[in-house]
Amino acid sequence: MTSTQAPDIVDIPAISVEITDYVPALVVIDMQNDFVSGSLAVPDAQAIIPVVKGLINMPFKARIATRDFHPENHVSFAKTHDRREFTTVSIHHPDDKEKALGVEQTLWPVHCVAKTDGAQFVPELKDIEFDALIHKGTHPSIESYSAFRDIWGRGETDLPRVLREVGATDIYFCGLAGDYCVKYSAKDSVDYGYNTWVIKDAVRSIESSSTLAWDEMEQKGVKFTNFREVRDKLSSA
Ligand SMILES: [Zn+2]
Repeated sequence: MTSTQAPDIVDIPAISVEITDYVPALVVIDMQNDFVSGSLAVPDAQAIIPVVKGLINMPFKARIATRDFHPENHVSFAKTHDRREFTTVSIHHPDDKEKALGVEQTLWPVHCVAKTDGAQFVPELKDIEFDALIHKGTHPSIESYSAFRDIWGRGETDLPRVLREVGATDIYFCGLAGDYCVKYSAKDSVDYGYNTWVIKDAVRSIESSSTLAWDEMEQKGVKFTNFREVRDKLSSA
């Protein structure tokens, strides 16, 4: 006699699907008084403050903030060279005695002098306890646009170490200015091997009508997102 034929099931061993870890970190770039309402105010910067605040309240693994934090005689100030603002000059790293690697430096108005009001976070963000604070441009002769390292790539800030300790996989950037510190930070983030996102509606640029910085980031492999997409992604992660 025949029993009911068992369905032809092949015993497939359970496959454990390796789910890639997703560890998002938020880096808030230079939300300081001088860049919002002071000597080097970025157009429409005020508008992103509530957006940035909303991002900080999202469940990122780490919330990190950077500040431009210059001495009074910083190499990026026009006044230091007795030249006109927004002109350029070639500058060298102080250890580059042969002056082998000059970088064209835009000369800015005096801004974000350490421990002055201009260097403070905007009032809406000043009481937030970030997981890490990164200071840039603290040496008189060294300029850093990137949150990772100086413009010659010779010296790192604390950011690479902080991100390693957090175990971050995805870095989300917001803040000021899109065409300088956000752009250089995001491009370096790609170079450091991270999935890199710029939250476009939480960024404003000095040259607000130009798309050059966005094109440059895109070519580097930076991805763009917005507040709503980040909120949806983090609430389902
Ligand atoms: Zn600066």
